[in-house]
Amino acid sequence: MSDNEHSSQDELVFLEELEKSDPQVKQEDNLTWRIMIIDDDPDVHSATTFALSSLVIQNRSLSFLHAYSAVQAKEILKNETDIAVILLDVVMEQEDAGLQLVNIIRNEMSLAEVRIILRTGQPGYAPEIDAIRDFDINDYKTKSELTRTKLFTTVTSAIRSYDQICSINTLRRAADITTRSSRELISQTNLHEFSAIVIQSIIDYFNQPNINILMFKQEELGEAINIIAANGQFSHMLSSNIKHTDNAVILKTIETSLIDQKNILAEHYAALNLSNTTQTRFALFVGLNNNISVQDARFLEVFSSNVSVCLDNVLLNIRLRNHAFTDPLTNLPNRLKLLHMLDQILAQKNRPQTTLALIDIDHFAETNNALGHQFGDLLLCAVAERLRHHFEHSCKLARIGSDTFSIVGHNDIVRPEIILSLFYAPFLIENQDVQLSATIGLVKLDDYQGDTSDALKDTNIALKRAKKQQRTGYVYFTNNMGVEIRERVRLMRALNSAFQKNHLFVVYQPQVDISSGRTVGAEALLRWKTAEGKFIPPDQFIPIAEYSGLIIELGDWVLRNSCFELVNILKKGYSDFKMSVNVSQAQFLHPEFLNSVRRAIQDSGAPPHLLDLEITESMAMEDPIFLMETLHHLKKIGVKISIDDFGTGFSSLSYLQKLPIDQLKIDRSFVSQIVDANSSASIPKMIIQLCQSLGLTVIAEGVEDFKQAEALLSFGCKLAQGYYYSRPLETSKIHEWMTIPAKRIDS
Ligand code: C2E
Ligand code: CA
Ligand code: CA
Repeated sequence: MSDNEHSSQDELVFLEELEKSDPQVKQEDNLTWRIMIIDDDPDVHSATTFALSSLVIQNRSLSFLHAYSAVQAKEILKNETDIAVILLDVVMEQEDAGLQLVNIIRNEMSLAEVRIILRTGQPGYAPEIDAIRDFDINDYKTKSELTRTKLFTTVTSAIRSYDQICSINTLRRAADITTRSSRELISQTNLHEFSAIVIQSIIDYFNQPNINILMFKQEELGEAINIIAANGQFSHMLSSNIKHTDNAVILKTIETSLIDQKNILAEHYAALNLSNTTQTRFALFVGLNNNISVQDARFLEVFSSNVSVCLDNVLLNIRLRNHAFTDPLTNLPNRLKLLHMLDQILAQKNRPQTTLALIDIDHFAETNNALGHQFGDLLLCAVAERLRHHFEHSCKLARIGSDTFSIVGHNDIVRPEIILSLFYAPFLIENQDVQLSATIGLVKLDDYQGDTSDALKDTNIALKRAKKQQRTGYVYFTNNMGVEIRERVRLMRALNSAFQKNHLFVVYQPQVDISSGRTVGAEALLRWKTAEGKFIPPDQFIPIAEYSGLIIELGDWVLRNSCFELVNILKKGYSDFKMSVNVSQAQFLHPEFLNSVRRAIQDSGAPPHLLDLEITESMAMEDPIFLMETLHHLKKIGVKISIDDFGTGFSSLSYLQKLPIDQLKIDRSFVSQIVDANSSASIPKMIIQLCQSLGLTVIAEGVEDFKQAEALLSFGCKLAQGYYYSRPLETSKIHEWMTIPAKRIDS
C-alpha cells in the first residue's frame, strides 16, 4: 500500500470513528491510576500489587511502577508523569532515605500533586509531625498495618484526593489561562495576533508546544472555509482553503461545527465553534495525542465561549478601524490608509520597484459647481470604479482628497500612460456621457530617501508641475524639484526669523523731475541683509512672503516706516516730497488693508496726499468690482495711486479710464529699449500720450543714462527714477542726497 492510500485509509477509520461518536465528551478512557512502589524489599512489591490488583476507582484500574532504592526511584520519577500515589518505604539505603526522597520529590522536583504514603517495617519509628505536614505526606503506616483492606482504603482515599487536587489544579490553570488570554484577546485589533494568542493559550493549557491546531474563518455560511492560523503538524496548511485540506475528518467536523454552531468533542480531537453574533463564522480544531479528559473538555468549552465573546469585540474593533481607513463615498481606502501603507513600504530596506501616483481629475471643482455635488459624487464613484477595475488586483488604491486618487504598485504597472488611457473613454453618469481628463504626479519609491510625509509632498509637487505645464498630463518627481522647494521653505523660515530679528530694512530711491533735476519724492524698497552680510533681492523673497502670508505684516511694517520717514523729510523743509510704497496683491486683498493704511497715516502724521501706493497692472485686472471699491476707499483716505510696471499687462484702455488713479509708471523694460535704434519707442510714447489724455502723471523707472532721460523728456514724460540718478539709498543717505544738486536737462 502506498503512503497515500495508507493515510486515506487512516482517515476513513478516523472518520468512521467520528461518525459513531457521540459529539459529547467520551468519559471512558484507557487510562489507569499509576501507583509507584518504592521499597528495598521485593516481597513488599509483590504483596502490594497482589493486594491492589483488583482495585478499580472511577472506572480505572491501577498500574504499577517499581523502585527498589531511593536512587532508582529518583531516576524513574524524572521520566514518568501522572503518578497518582507513591507507597514509600522510609528506611532503605539509609535510615532516612525515604524522607530524603520525599524532600526531593516535593522541593526539588516540585511534584506537588502525587500523594505519598509512608511505610515502615519498625513500629514505633515515626517521622516528625513537622515532616508529615511540610512534605504533604498523605498517610503513615507500619507495614504490618497494611492489610489488604487497609491498603485498599488507604490507596483509594489517596487516589481520590490526588484526583481532586488534579482537577482543582487543572481548573485553576484553565481559569488562569482563560482570564489572562481574555485580557490580551480583548485588546487585539488584528485577527492574526488574536489567533496567535488563542493558539498559545491552548499550548499553555495542554503544555504541548506542538499541539495540532487549526483556526478557520468563513465569511458566510456556504462560503469557502479558510484556514487563518495553524500550529503543529498543521502549520503547512496555513492560509489555504479548507477544501485543499486532504483530511476528511477535519473537514467534516469543522463543517458540522460551523453549520450547527456548536462544539464537537471527540476522544482525540475537538472542533470548537467560535461564532457569536457576527455573520462571519470562526472555528477551531484541536487534535490531541492523548484523550481529552473531563477537565480538558471543561476547559475547552469555557475557553472557546470566552474566545468567541472576545472575538466579537475584536471584529467590532476591526470594523471600526476599517471604517477609519475607508473613504465612505467610494469605499476605497482613504488617505490615512495610504499613509500607513507608505510607512510600511518605506520601512523596508530592500524595496521592490514601487511607484506612487497621485491622480487629480482636471476641472473637477468646476464640474461639481456646475452640475451639483450629487453629480460630482457619481463622477468620483465612476472614476473609482474604473481605477478599481483596472488596478484592484495588482496595486493598492486610495482616495486621498476630494478629487485625488492614489495608486501604489510596481513600476511596470503604475505607469502614467496607462492611467491616462483609462480616461479616454467617457464616463456614463445618469445616462449622460461625461468626458474627463486627469493629471498625474508620480514618485518612484525604490530608492526614495525621505519618509512618508515627504513622499506624499513630493508627489504633490510633481502633480502641481504637471498641472502647470499642461502638456503631457504627468510629471515624475525628480530630486531637483525637491531641492528647489525645500530651498524655498528654508528661505521662508529664514525670512520669518530675519523679520523678527530686524534684519530687514527699507531703502529709498529718489524720483526726479528730469528737466530741473529736483527730487520730487522716493520709492521705498525693502532690503534683506542676512547675518552673513549677503543681500537677498526682493524679487526672490517678496513672492515667498506673499506665499507664506508674512507679506501682510511685512507690508504694514514697510508702509509705517515709509510714512515716518516721509514725515522726517517733510520736517527738513521739503514740503511737497512724495513717498511711493509698493503694495502686493495679497496685502491689497486683505480685509485689514484699508485700516492698515489709515493707521500708518494717523500714527505718523503723514499727509495722505503725499503718500503714493503702487499697485501692479496685473492686480488692477483681477476683480474689477472689489478693485474699484478699494480704490474709492483709498481716494477717500486721500492717498495717491500709481499703476506700477505699466505696459507689461493687458489693461483695456476703456477700463483704465474708469479707475480712480493718479499716475502710470512706465516699466523699465521699455525704458531700456527707448534709444535702441532697432526697437521702436512706440509703447512709451503711447503710454505718455495716454496719460496726457487721461490727465494722469507719468513716471519712467529704470532710467540708466542721459540719453534715456532725454528721450523721455522729449516724449513728454517729466518724471524719472533710476540708477542714472541714484541707487536706492539708506535713510541717512537720502537726507544727504536731498542737499546735493542733481543732474538736469535744460530744455
Ligand atoms: P519695482 O516696484 O518695479 O521696483 C523697482 C526696482 O527696480 C527695484 O528693484 C529697483 O532697485 C530697481 N531699479 C531702480 N532703478 C533701476 C535702474 O536704473 N536699472 C535697473 N535695472 N533697476 C533699477 P528691487 O529693489 O530689487 O525691487 C524689486 C521688486 O521687488 C520691486 O519692483 C517690487 O515689485 C518688489 N518690492 C521691493 N520692495 C517692496 C516692498 O516693500 N513691498 C512690496 N510689495 N514689493 C516690494
Ligand atoms: Ca514699484
Ligand atoms: Ca516697477
